[in-house]
Amino acid sequence: MNDLNEEDRKWLTEYLGECWHELKETEYGDFECNKCGFEIRKRVFNRVFTTPGDFFALKDKLAKKGEWDKFESYAHREWWRTIKTIVLEPEKSFPNWLINTPRFCWLVNEWLKEKEDEP
Ligand SMILES: [Zn+2]
Repeated sequence: MNDLNEEDRKWLTEYLGECWHELKETEYGDFECNKCGFEIRKRVFNRVFTTPGDFFALKDKLAKKGEWDKFESYAHREWWRTIKTIVLEPEKSFPNWLINTPRFCWLVNEWLKEKEDEP
């Protein structure tokens, strides 16, 4: 499993229908998003896809778009491939394997990329 890079996180954020904020300093010395005007007060202002909130946002979006079943089939194949190749303590429960925030976000990203490549 690989970590998500910035481009991946941006893509997932846009899949959620949200703005991937771009920092801009205002004339008053505040910071806001260059694209949507969101007032930026925190050092980390874009989604990191490591929190339960990110997990549920993606899960709900997949369901809302009617894409859950297709994603689940993909995730199931990946799980099967993983438990076949990892000999040491395989996670035998598919839901337990899937309900893991970094893994889930990574899988959604991989699935979206694969879907994009389809004709
Ligand atoms: Zn923004």
